Amino acid sequence: MKIKRLELKNFRNYREEKIELPSGASVFLGQNAQGKTNILEAVYYAALGRSHRTSADVELVRWEEREALLSLDFFRMDAENQLEFRFFRESRRKIFRNGAPILMKDLVGTVNVVLFSPEDLLLVKGAPAGRRRFLDMEISQIDPSYFYDLAVYTRLLSQRNTLLKRVRDGEADESEIPLWDVQMIPRAVNLIRKRIEAVKKMDGFASRTHREISGGKENLSLRYELHGADGEESGSMTKDLFSWYNEKLAESIRLDIMRGVTRFGPHRDDLALLVNGADLRSYGSQGQQRTGVLSLKLAELAFFREETGEYPILLLDDVMSELDRDRREKLLSFIRGEKLQALITATDEAYFPSGSFGNFFDVSHGTVTAR
Ligand code: ATP
Ligand code: MG
Repeated sequence: MKIKRLELKNFRNYREEKIELPSGASVFLGQNAQGKTNILEAVYYAALGRSHRTSADVELVRWEEREALLSLDFFRMDAENQLEFRFFRESRRKIFRNGAPILMKDLVGTVNVVLFSPEDLLLVKGAPAGRRRFLDMEISQIDPSYFYDLAVYTRLLSQRNTLLKRVRDGEADESEIPLWDVQMIPRAVNLIRKRIEAVKKMDGFASRTHREISGGKENLSLRYELHGADGEESGSMTKDLFSWYNEKLAESIRLDIMRGVTRFGPHRDDLALLVNGADLRSYGSQGQQRTGVLSLKLAELAFFREETGEYPILLLDDVMSELDRDRREKLLSFIRGEKLQALITATDEAYFPSGSFGNFFDVSHGTVTAR
């Protein structure tokens, strides 16, 4: 996958900017607050239909302007396509593909990206929600039906929780709960199945890259953790998942009503990372956790390539300064070796090997200049 051209009009601090993007690595250099992340944000938005920094699209519109435009020419398996987003201060954004209006559900998966930003360095150490999000964003991009199931599940779950509270408070009858459950359970099971499958695939990639990054010293493995099942059960669960989940909900119904929340389901599961058998989330050193994140991101790239036939666009926001020299070089040589398109932001060009690494752009006050 390759982006050829990016156009921004009144997007964040850009007035009117057209950026021709070469293959391989493009490095955007500039001081703080010049608009480097805004470029990556635009590409991320084109892939997921939302920003990674805000859920309010209106923030994307340049101050004092009423409308903004983001347009992207890209190649997917050698076929050229165009995506366009129009943002309005007073109404909802509109999406167009090759000139025709499309809906959000038709957008996801059109452009694939993997974003790696400093916040991701907390992916291993941080709360389970971050790891679930990681899986959700990844699988959604290769499987639109996953994205759809996730949206429906999230809605049904919140309705179920409201109902649980009403039952608790004597405002609704318990017999209504199964009516939600028959809709919710199949969605939940779909999500879990696909997550287990994706984690299995990524496990192989992650363990290979991790061994290499750690100089052969460490073995990384990934495991999907079903909340409420012990480790062994999760692994062999795929076929009986449906009845297992039914039983879990039934078993928990009294407590669920009392608390007004659903205790079991994909919204409570987690991704476990084990290094030489020990849980990286709780026992890893800071350095090991960072290496784990890097391995996970590289595994994600390999996963996309396997599933879609080509690498996604890699967006690296300010991570060079966060990685030590060794990990930085591993990452840069991966990008160079695999010839994937990467958009990289940095404040300092010293992080990049002198000579032939990529193309450089200077970013200053919302203008981009190719060197
Ligand atoms: P850093 O190195 O600190 O990460 P950066 O170059 O990545 O900086 P960006 O986050 O891309 O910076 O851009 C931030 C700039 O964009 C800020 O100056 C901010 O005030 C400006 N900005 C953000 N949203 C808007 C908007 N809607 N209209 C105008 N300017 C905006
Ligand atoms: Mg930035």
